[in-house]
Amino acid sequence: MSNLEDKPDEVVCESGRGGIEVMAPRDVPLGGPRAMTVRRTLPQRERSLIGAWCFLDHYGPDDVADTGGMSVAPHPHTGLQTVSWLFTGEIEHRDSAGHHALVRPGELNLMTAGHGISHSEVSTPTTSVLHGAQLWVALPADARDGRPDFEHYAPDAVTGPGWEARVFLGTLLGSTSPVSTATPLLGAELLISGGTELHLDVERTFEHGVLVDTGVVSIGEVETKQHQLAYLPPGSQRLSIDAHTDARVLLLGGPPFGEAIVMWWNFVGRSHEEVVGFRDEWMAQLADGRYDDGRFGVPTGNDLPPIPAPDLPNARLKERR
Ligand code: MN
Repeated sequence: MSNLEDKPDEVVCESGRGGIEVMAPRDVPLGGPRAMTVRRTLPQRERSLIGAWCFLDHYGPDDVADTGGMSVAPHPHTGLQTVSWLFTGEIEHRDSAGHHALVRPGELNLMTAGHGISHSEVSTPTTSVLHGAQLWVALPADARDGRPDFEHYAPDAVTGPGWEARVFLGTLLGSTSPVSTATPLLGAELLISGGTELHLDVERTFEHGVLVDTGVVSIGEVETKQHQLAYLPPGSQRLSIDAHTDARVLLLGGPPFGEAIVMWWNFVGRSHEEVVGFRDEWMAQLADGRYDDGRFGVPTGNDLPPIPAPDLPNARLKERR
């Protein structure tokens, strides 16, 4: 996924009991001729990170006949990992590290940008409905300059009375993902039947986010509606989700990241100057077409022209934490 917005809207942030905050999404067009729109809940004006999770786009269910589906041409990333998680549909991933993969519902596809990568994401011709999320994870200082990578994992569902879970990163409900992460992380899809209250044992040191894909739930005692993101601060070993209706949520977590990041377009860096340098390197690659010796390379196998970086804002890029 590529961040193509140039003027983000104001966002709503309500503070509730137990330090729980409920955040509303803003609609962001992804670009392209018919401009598929995503709902972005991170970053917000009031919150940049939940653990190392630094970006949360949620989309669909979209009828591809109306939206044109996803067609995101090659674009660069640095200093982060992307998590693609689908509920419906199929996306073809190609990256400059040579990975070609089909992203399917219920399967983790984790791309590590590290030092630099570029990739394209296109929904497949057989996809009629597209529904899912793309999440970014900021890499800490000791991993952010590492080599690019791509990992795939299809978790088995774990089930109990009135619930079903797929744990794609970290540990929850007795299920542990084998995918290693640079900072401790939790990522899981939870299906909860209406009338079920699910009690989860979680890490006390983690902060958590609950993104509601469908239904209405209460987190603690704070009602969270479809498309909203609830934030829970660290300090509790118990997290309760009370489903008022049949619900599907994504549960994300991790200890507070602890490093200030500078995030602009598709780059995560540590200073204004560093991000400007990333942008310059991508634009230099586009200008001379010499992808082989560049930081980012370019994926092969599609005809989409790489996306030029937008203009930098007039002001210096700010640190977020
Ligand atoms: Mn991307």
